[in-house]
Amino acid sequence: MPDTKHYTDLGLTNTKEIFKKAMAGGYAIPAYNFNNMEQLQGIIIGCVESKSPVILQVSGSARKYADPTFLPYMAMGAVQMAKALGAGIPIALHLDHGDTFELAKSCIDSGFSSVMLDGSHHPFEENAALTRQVVDYAHDREVTVEGELGVLAGVEDEVSHEVSHFTKPEEVEAFVEKTGVDSLAISIGTSHGAHKFKVKPGEEIPPLRFDILEEIEKRVPGFPIVLHGASSIDPAYVKMINAYGGKMDDAVGIPAEQLRRAAQSAVCKINIDSDGRLAMTAVIRKVFAENPAEFDPRKYLGPARDELVKMVKYKNEHVLGSAGKA
Ligand SMILES: [Zn+2]
Repeated sequence: MPDTKHYTDLGLTNTKEIFKKAMAGGYAIPAYNFNNMEQLQGIIIGCVESKSPVILQVSGSARKYADPTFLPYMAMGAVQMAKALGAGIPIALHLDHGDTFELAKSCIDSGFSSVMLDGSHHPFEENAALTRQVVDYAHDREVTVEGELGVLAGVEDEVSHEVSHFTKPEEVEAFVEKTGVDSLAISIGTSHGAHKFKVKPGEEIPPLRFDILEEIEKRVPGFPIVLHGASSIDPAYVKMINAYGGKMDDAVGIPAEQLRRAAQSAVCKINIDSDGRLAMTAVIRKVFAENPAEFDPRKYLGPARDELVKMVKYKNEHVLGSAGKA
């Protein structure tokens, strides 16, 4: 059991202020997933260099992988590292896809500043009741909560669904009111994982349902919306992976142009996991292919971290618009 501490002890921030500013400024805060040191440092360096606020995000299984006791100290180290690099950017530590009250509570008690309770696989009332339970516990400790309505297709750590169910805008007001959540993840056509859509060469991928987003914005004006499964799956990285012995056949993601449009709307948080995985894997494959005798982890994890820095800066500057907003 991790020792009990509050997120402010770690130098972290919740998402309240950063979402308010993102909403007013027409940009989105990046939420980058991590589970190891090189990922975490790559994200932090990229966000410090582009002066962006950041949400460090871990799924339940990523937390287990990094170790629940160790993890909050990684986040604390990240806060201190950002300061040492000369920029005290706002940093939140967020649980991605929490599925039980117990998991959310355990994260809050160990120093998370924000949690997601994803009850979207439950019927509406059950989802609302479970989310409310987490909100009550979290808000007593000034921790912010993200809920979810609608189901995304695709595979991500512990979440997997064959087909997507778009969020019903008519359910949003009641859900926000009943639960007291601080933000809401919606389903408008994004998808988890690296294989988001089945498209034949030359075929267009289905555009995001901006009509649903607009309807939601009308019903809950100024309320922070979250997009999951929003990696772009850069074809250059997929090509690099395949060129150096990988096999990622039909990997395809959300075009940056659509994410830019979403970031300017009520979407305040955009989740990026697969893109970071691809960037690091592409570089590691290249190092191994070109230097088969290499066995010093710094020689492949180092370049992978450098590549992640580049990717994070690009996203913040050219897709989310969060650069310069820290
Ligand atoms: Zn997700």
